[in-house]
Amino acid sequence: MPRVAVIPQPNSPVEIREVPEPQLELNSALLEVELSEVCGTDVYLQQGRLAGVPYPLVPGHVSAGRLGKIRGTLLDIEGRAFREGDRVTFLDVHRTCHACWYCLVAKATTRCPQRKVYGITYGLDDGLCGGWADQIYLKPGTRIIRLEADADTFMAGGCALPTALHAVERGDLAIGDTVLVLGSGPVGVNSIILALMRGALRVLCIGAPDHRLEVASQAGAAAVLNFQARDEAARLEWVLERTDGRGADVTIEAAGAPEAVTEAMRFTRDAGRVVIVGQYTDHGASSFNPHLDINKKHLDVRGCWGSDFSHFYRGVQMVSDARRSVAWQALRANLSRYKLTDANGALAHVRDGKVLKALIEPLGS
Ligand SMILES: [Zn+2]
Ligand SMILES: [Zn+2]
Repeated sequence: MPRVAVIPQPNSPVEIREVPEPQLELNSALLEVELSEVCGTDVYLQQGRLAGVPYPLVPGHVSAGRLGKIRGTLLDIEGRAFREGDRVTFLDVHRTCHACWYCLVAKATTRCPQRKVYGITYGLDDGLCGGWADQIYLKPGTRIIRLEADADTFMAGGCALPTALHAVERGDLAIGDTVLVLGSGPVGVNSIILALMRGALRVLCIGAPDHRLEVASQAGAAAVLNFQARDEAARLEWVLERTDGRGADVTIEAAGAPEAVTEAMRFTRDAGRVVIVGQYTDHGASSFNPHLDINKKHLDVRGCWGSDFSHFYRGVQMVSDARRSVAWQALRANLSRYKLTDANGALAHVRDGKVLKALIEPLGS
């Protein structure tokens, strides 16, 4: 029987349970999990801070593995059939309807009310729907992507890769822009890599702790600042010194603290752009001056919620390309692996920022 690591209810430790192998519907499959991940969202799931989450829950929304049993036919977007044994990943978002107002009129599929997310809004009652498990049940209609990269390189980007790709796309970067990234966690680091690929002249990063800022530098940040070392005025000064006194052309907020949103606005030049991607969980309010911080600055502030198939797919292509994947191959040195039975330790290390990226490796654990 497959084992799963379950959060039974908010603020309870993770438990290992054995569950029956699912009956496969037509055009579905089982994924033998090689690697899944522990991200900041999983910490908030354990703390009960995300709305609409059904407990008990098996976390792990982005995973890589090999296709086990397939029932029926599963095709990739090129129309090629998947075979048992293929290494794949899959879009964690399922059931985007392509029939509602948000999907069809607003063309904002990440706001589709029908969408469900493996490991977040699918609970254990929905089946084997999280990656902290020996197997995941890939329900009919799941968007599966062939993975040419090894599982490590893909997971070095993990869920942060499509998120950051979406954020950089929302930032509409121009060649030669100076980009400021607030936050040096996985989304921040992936944003640095992708901003440079998109043509940024240089990327500045303000974050913490120092070991994460070292990773940000290795990923290509031209200058990094530990935000704990300076107050807001001194942080602004640091940005202005590096941007001819104007502020960043584009700022990507990937920090998570509400105050970072206000700082993102103040650290950006007049008529620049700000992308808010770090507020996936409700951390509370932040106050700003609408005249000084937005209107007079002629500032463009954009939210960025989740990611869709295009972000996920293009991220997979980047990590699968020999030359383009170099930055993620280097990030593999920062992966920390945990057995399924060590999920509580992994959560604690992610919560305390001790590791950049924690992975769950169910096989052999
Ligand atoms: Zn995640
Ligand atoms: Zn829809």
